[in-house]
Amino acid sequence: MADHYEVLGVARDATPDEIKKAYRRLARQLHPDVNPGADTSEQFKLVTHAYDVLSDPEQRARYDMGDSPFGGAGGAQGFGSFGDIFETFFGATSGGGRPGRPRSRRERGQDALVRVTLELKDVVFGAHRELEVDTAVLCETCTGSCCQPGTSPVTCDICHGAGHVQRQVRSLLGNVVTSQPCGSCQGYGTTIPYPCATCQGQGRVRARRTVSIDIPAGVETGLRLQLPGSGEVGPAGGPNGDLYLEVTVAANEIFSREGDDLLATLQVSMPDAILGTTTTIESLDGPVELEVRPGIQAGDVLTIKGRGITPLRGSQRGDLRVGVHVVTPTRLDHKDRVLIEEFAKRTKLPAPHLAEFHQGLFAKLRDRFRQG
Ligand SMILES: [Zn+2]
Ligand SMILES: [Zn+2]
Repeated sequence: MADHYEVLGVARDATPDEIKKAYRRLARQLHPDVNPGADTSEQFKLVTHAYDVLSDPEQRARYDMGDSPFGGAGGAQGFGSFGDIFETFFGATSGGGRPGRPRSRRERGQDALVRVTLELKDVVFGAHRELEVDTAVLCETCTGSCCQPGTSPVTCDICHGAGHVQRQVRSLLGNVVTSQPCGSCQGYGTTIPYPCATCQGQGRVRARRTVSIDIPAGVETGLRLQLPGSGEVGPAGGPNGDLYLEVTVAANEIFSREGDDLLATLQVSMPDAILGTTTTIESLDGPVELEVRPGIQAGDVLTIKGRGITPLRGSQRGDLRVGVHVVTPTRLDHKDRVLIEEFAKRTKLPAPHLAEFHQGLFAKLRDRFRQG
């Protein structure tokens, strides 16, 4: 360990003024900003540290008595040693990252979001889509190296590959070293003398890509499906981001969804409701035979098992539930009227009478779903 007095070139009994003058002279000679290129930083550290110790009467007295300025009693002075200051400020300015490591040009690509509108049928059975996506793909000319073929990056001659430069800064605590990204190479530690002409040195190009997607059954509006690795390629050929597919389900004219069930209404004429009939309805699975039993009531629900939606997680399909709506004839000719009047006389049907309130067919439907 060099002697502080020798480092500053002063006598052991030098006055504070002499010490200050010696330090200023040396600092001017050795400051890294004054001597770019020449490696004077080690000497500068020594000089600064010697001055820190000798300019403080307390530290100087301890030093004169033989205490080591590095560690031990000297270290207890807080920022007594240059090393402490160096570490403290380095840590603070480099944002916790390890100094000395240049950043990589390769980065993960961005995630992308595409929207897709599905029909209810797609929700019931799942769907396959080929989607055109505007994205970034790997540059085929340089395969992500960012360089013209046959050339390669060269070490930055400003930071010598470190990606950052150190600066000596004066502060209340004395001279401290801070680190900042090298402006010449943007922190990469290398520069690219001949950037790839195809991608302008980005390692990737914009492109339209077709993404093939299997959409599972059971999705609903607002759901986002994640396709890992289908997003854009990263800078310099970095790993792909993810692609998210946001689903919108278009309303269907006939069927609506309730959980895993599909709902619809079956319009039944009055004679069919009274006498019963068999009919074929067009479900999303194709034709289904349906029996309307004699005496069916408005609001009755017919359940067709397993013709609903396959849940997103599961395989058991829900049901198709059909609510009966009896259609009363509104136009009767004279003969019809006579027949109905005769029917009414014969059957002695009860006069209109009060019963519990029902708010339309679907309220009744819902009530029945809750009960059963
Ligand atoms: Zn390229
Ligand atoms: Zn650099």
